[in-house]
Amino acid sequence: MSILIKNIRQLAGVRENSTLLRGKELSELPFINNAWIHIENNIIVGYGSMDSLNIKEFKNSIDATGRLVMPCWCDSHTHLVFAGSRENEFVDKIKGKTYAEIAAHGGGILNSANKLNDTTEDELFNQAWKRLEQIAKTGTGAVEIKSGYGLTVEGELKMLRVIKKLKQKSNLIIKATFLGAHAYPEAFRDNHQGYIRQIIDEMLPVIGKENLADYIDVFCEEGFFSISETEQILTAGKQYGLKPKIHANQLNNSGGVQIGVKHNAISVDHLETIAAAEIECLKNSNTIATALPTAAFFLRMNYPPVRKMIENDIAVALATDYNPGSSPSGNMPLLIALSCIQMKMTPEEAINAATINGAYAMEVQDEAGSITAGKKANLIITKPIPSLAYMPYSFGENLIDKVIINGNII
Ligand SMILES: [Zn+2]
Repeated sequence: MSILIKNIRQLAGVRENSTLLRGKELSELPFINNAWIHIENNIIVGYGSMDSLNIKEFKNSIDATGRLVMPCWCDSHTHLVFAGSRENEFVDKIKGKTYAEIAAHGGGILNSANKLNDTTEDELFNQAWKRLEQIAKTGTGAVEIKSGYGLTVEGELKMLRVIKKLKQKSNLIIKATFLGAHAYPEAFRDNHQGYIRQIIDEMLPVIGKENLADYIDVFCEEGFFSISETEQILTAGKQYGLKPKIHANQLNNSGGVQIGVKHNAISVDHLETIAAAEIECLKNSNTIATALPTAAFFLRMNYPPVRKMIENDIAVALATDYNPGSSPSGNMPLLIALSCIQMKMTPEEAINAATINGAYAMEVQDEAGSITAGKKANLIITKPIPSLAYMPYSFGENLIDKVIINGNII
């Protein structure tokens, strides 16, 4: 289908060529006021200011008077394939139970793992599909999804097969990450090498053979996977062409950033607890620093020091960490608002970090993340609003009118 969107108050995120944005570059979000954009089938074919529009008659046109049009969000870190929800733990935490007490009663990641192993592949697919539909409505056009709630050979492969099926059936751009190293299952609590051998000898060969993942992830954290265990798993993943994207420095200054950078990770994610050494390390690397502020919000933790990262010329991305335990929301507009309010990012910085840099953090920058001729027609059309800054300012209000994904209005 061919669609012309015209009289756009502001077309934001327009880039002739896209590059990964570092430091100060994040503050510039190029735009055209009073603009049009033309999509043909599922591709952006042209755009410009209204006085340059020479298409007079157009069958499918959308009048966007007073509205903004921008690229869809690229959510580069989620765990949206999971079975059931964990609101009981949420209430227990409000009432004062600690994470350790909840875990001792079968809560936490192991709770999700038990539920997932009891759920069929079809049922898991159906639950995940609903979540994909829901994030598409709030403007997400590309998403990375991790395994990590199986923690058994069958469970991990089941999750990755669900993600593969989502890739095949959805209009969203999807990337898959193998996170077998999310936690140690109960049976391997005191036998770490036993579980790591399962990852390396039993999971990875099948993942490689069936092409089930694009990336490998490890929860590198005190009490979870140590530096040397992380390194062992990343090295094994490399043999199957899986590049690292890792969980680092969420709960402790664990050395995760350094090990990620050493292994050329695409991104190191979380970063709530980093110091000068981690900033220095990221500054001199091509690894993207992905902040997940909705997780810090939900867990009442300190936010990652994003201003310091930007001052130090680091490439920052933003993602939701959508998961049942620490961020049960894939709502990108809320994430943008939180990033502005709590981490003092400007609206332009937050939007860039959640679009073009998010695209780089899952290597889909040639298809998504900006208004660029030749990229996929993944667009957000807002309700009439006075400016871009109005979006995070008016937090919690649904300001998205239409979303176009792969050329289809949803
Ligand atoms: Zn995560």
